[in-house]
Amino acid sequence: MDLSQPLTNEQIRGLRKTGVPPTVHHVTRGVPQGALFEGEPVAGSAIVPTATYFLTGSECRYTCSMCDLWKYTTGDRTDKGSLPRQIQLLHQEHNTIERGIRWLKLYNASNFFDTANVPEEDLHTIASLCHGFHRVIVENHAAMLSSSTVRQRLLRFQEKLDGELEIAMGLETIEPEAVRLLNKKMSPEQFADACQFLRGSGIHARAFVLLQPPGSVPATSVEWTVKSCQWAFSCGIERCSIIPTRPGNGFTDTMRASGLWQPPGAKRLEDTMDAIVLRLLSEHRIATVDLWDWERISGTCEQCRGPRRLRLEAMNIGQCILPRVQCVHCDS
Ligand code: SF4
Ligand SMILES: [Zn+2]
Repeated sequence: MDLSQPLTNEQIRGLRKTGVPPTVHHVTRGVPQGALFEGEPVAGSAIVPTATYFLTGSECRYTCSMCDLWKYTTGDRTDKGSLPRQIQLLHQEHNTIERGIRWLKLYNASNFFDTANVPEEDLHTIASLCHGFHRVIVENHAAMLSSSTVRQRLLRFQEKLDGELEIAMGLETIEPEAVRLLNKKMSPEQFADACQFLRGSGIHARAFVLLQPPGSVPATSVEWTVKSCQWAFSCGIERCSIIPTRPGNGFTDTMRASGLWQPPGAKRLEDTMDAIVLRLLSEHRIATVDLWDWERISGTCEQCRGPRRLRLEAMNIGQCILPRVQCVHCDS
């Protein structure tokens, strides 16, 4: 693969079929992919019961090289009425309101304020389906928030909620070579500007930060992830979610097969969380590691996989450092 020039959308999409084809997850139009229930840490050592709804809609307009969320999308435009129906269904199926869930994440694997992903006419109904939740968290690309039309749409949605709004945005990384390969189409200034707009509008902001994306040198990837979180916090981000970059999207698999990239292992994720807890956190700066794919990460064995996960979960919740799990079997 020639990486002297960043790849285009078409080349990245082409690798989904012709590189090392990824396993494709089958999604059905209009059918939600499920819900996850967990506690989110907040200032003062409290934990907020939180639900994440994984909704099915159309694909994100951006084509970030490392992203695999396109696997969970379908069609060019989300059908009108589809997302409200899916939210209603998940509310009923899980008794979400009755069981005292306070925060609700509506994750649609794309941009909540792009009308191709969430029809404008549905925003009012979605907001009314969020009544009773203290905070609603949705995802959106930071560069889109430069548009005054998008800002107005976002503010109208905020007005209709009876709780707070939080926007989750992918910063991904500030490591230059990784940024060059990301195809993120976002400048640091756009990210900082989006944070400033959100803060000025009384809206919370969180960032997704990648550990060891393509282009990141393994030996320094922990340090760059720490620096990226530090930069996000300095822009006004309140919480960083650290995601170990996953294989499985075509581009990353092709990079891996060519020896140009390797996914981070468990130890590197642990090193990252330890460094961030020790160096960056404060009462108003929260960081968690994403453990959704922990079972597939390399560098653990049957004996230590569970205890090491429990340690990271406890650190996510407690925002504190805990003793490392020593494994006599894999010594990783
Ligand atoms: S903006 Fe987010 S959802 Fe869209 S391609 Fe990039 S990482 Fe994926
Ligand atoms: Zn082990």
